[in-house]
Amino acid sequence: MADNSSEQDKWKYKYLESLEQLEKKERNWREADQLLRRGLGRIALISHGVDDHLDNQLKTLRTALQNNSDVDVINTLVEKIASYMKTLDEEREGHAELPNSAAVLLQVVLAVSFPLAMVSEVNLLKVRLARPDAAENLKPLIDEFMRLVTIAFYGDEATAVSAAAPTAQTPEEKKGWLQRLFNKNENRETLSEAAHKVSSSVTEPPLNAAPISITTTASIEQALAAATATECVIEDVFLDILESLIFPPQFSAQVQQLKEQLTTGLSVDGIKRMTESVVALVVEMRGALEHEKEELENFLQQLTQRLHELDTMVKGAESDRLASLVGGRQFEAVVKAEVNDIENTVQNSSDLKHMKDVIQVSLDNIRQHLAEQHEQEEQHQESLESQLKSLTKQLQQVEGESQQLKLRLAKERIQALTDPLTGAPNRLAYEQRVVHEFARWQRYKHPFTLVVCDVDNFKKINDTYGHKAGDRALVAIVKTIQLQLRETDFLARVGGEEFVVLLTDTTQSDAEAVAEKLRKSVEMCEFVYQGKPVPVTISGGFAQFQSGDTVDEAYQRADKALYRAKHGGRNQFLSAS
Ligand code: GH3
Ligand code: MG
Ligand code: MG
Repeated sequence: MADNSSEQDKWKYKYLESLEQLEKKERNWREADQLLRRGLGRIALISHGVDDHLDNQLKTLRTALQNNSDVDVINTLVEKIASYMKTLDEEREGHAELPNSAAVLLQVVLAVSFPLAMVSEVNLLKVRLARPDAAENLKPLIDEFMRLVTIAFYGDEATAVSAAAPTAQTPEEKKGWLQRLFNKNENRETLSEAAHKVSSSVTEPPLNAAPISITTTASIEQALAAATATECVIEDVFLDILESLIFPPQFSAQVQQLKEQLTTGLSVDGIKRMTESVVALVVEMRGALEHEKEELENFLQQLTQRLHELDTMVKGAESDRLASLVGGRQFEAVVKAEVNDIENTVQNSSDLKHMKDVIQVSLDNIRQHLAEQHEQEEQHQESLESQLKSLTKQLQQVEGESQQLKLRLAKERIQALTDPLTGAPNRLAYEQRVVHEFARWQRYKHPFTLVVCDVDNFKKINDTYGHKAGDRALVAIVKTIQLQLRETDFLARVGGEEFVVLLTDTTQSDAEAVAEKLRKSVEMCEFVYQGKPVPVTISGGFAQFQSGDTVDEAYQRADKALYRAKHGGRNQFLSAS
């Protein structure tokens, strides 16, 4: 028994310790969750300012994070933001916020003041440039543009070929004149405005506003003079285009290089190369931005997925009341470090890709550690479950044992209060019962009488018929007396051949009748041993409890009466005086 209880204490202690550890682990989870939320809040801040609706969504996300909203709510918001960013991108594609390469070229065409004779050819080029698929096959359009510029400059292509000879104008002269082909106009349309205008009204008259008029190759000198007067500068057109571009940081060197080229002025070939470069740059920028947006979108989707996984694992762990904290501290440190990394990166990084990569790695690490932690917990849970099973088994055993013990104790208690020979209550039983009946008598004052009996000349019975006969005689006497008594009365064998009878609700005179009944029944029982009748009689004395009596006093009075009965001839019951 002692072993069992110490074993139980051990299991109980272990179980309580596990619960305490689990609670601690739950606190750690919450801290990690808080850090993740803060990191997400900073990401939300960085993305601010792109779009009003997006700003509102980000604000809601930040508020939800500040209010410690449920991770489900956060997940839903992040999903919404990711999906809205996707539609935003799609819309932007439709509105061509970033000019496409054809629009750039169109801007250049619009800036050139072609001779009137070329209007229909130029308009045709504008229409071709305004087509939605123009950017996809731009090379022939660039060639056409350069052909028209060359004709406008030299009058026709043949002249242009010969004019390119060293004997013609010096490069400086050409350059100066070329610059004047372009009309410097402070109110120049933006690229998107120009593209929109042309695409919505391709049949309208030429859009070039107040350009320098170049009518024939013969009027070059005039045009030159006019151009000088109106300060037409081709480099400004390209500079305007470059200035109007909102480009990702990795393009700054390229843009800077083109700007520098523009400061040295452009030849005819230079215009072509510059046009191609600017067009190529715009194509590249669009590609890069698309790619970056796509990546950001993927990243947000992955982030959402990771948060889902994190949430699932956290919930799994929370509901797992038997999980232990083995490795929990180590795990907590890892999560904190990863989340700190995320925070630092988000705070210090100006490069979205770098920031995204670091966050990605951190989230992957957290997920991996979560998975490991989860596995460990599952193992511990299994081990704890088997421990609990064994504990339950032990408890069941103990319960079974204690039930048996209870029965045994009850049996032993009965045995302890029972006379083994006659089956009648013994002296101990009498002592307990008399205390109880005495208390009742004191409380209810119902008459209560005590009878003391003794077998007459029992020694002689033993001597005459043998000890066994004496034993049998005692058993027969008990049976005979018990048959005469009421259920509420009580008979005990208090000595070898001595008995006490407690008669509740019985006065002394009533007791006299009962005593006589007892005496007579024993006398008449016709006890036979080994075929011989054995005469058996009993004598007794009885005393009713008087006010102020103790049990002993009443007993003594009854015993004295018994003594008188013996001396008065036996086989009689006398009342106490
Ligand atoms: P009296 O009428 O004066 O009571 O005479 P008695 O012989 O009955 O009284 P005494 O006290 O002289 O003897 C009692 C005898 O009862 C002595 C003892 O051997 C016998 N006795 C006591 N317990 C048992 C018992 O359990 N079995 C048997 N067979 N005899 C017992
Ligand atoms: Mg006796
Ligand atoms: Mg006797």
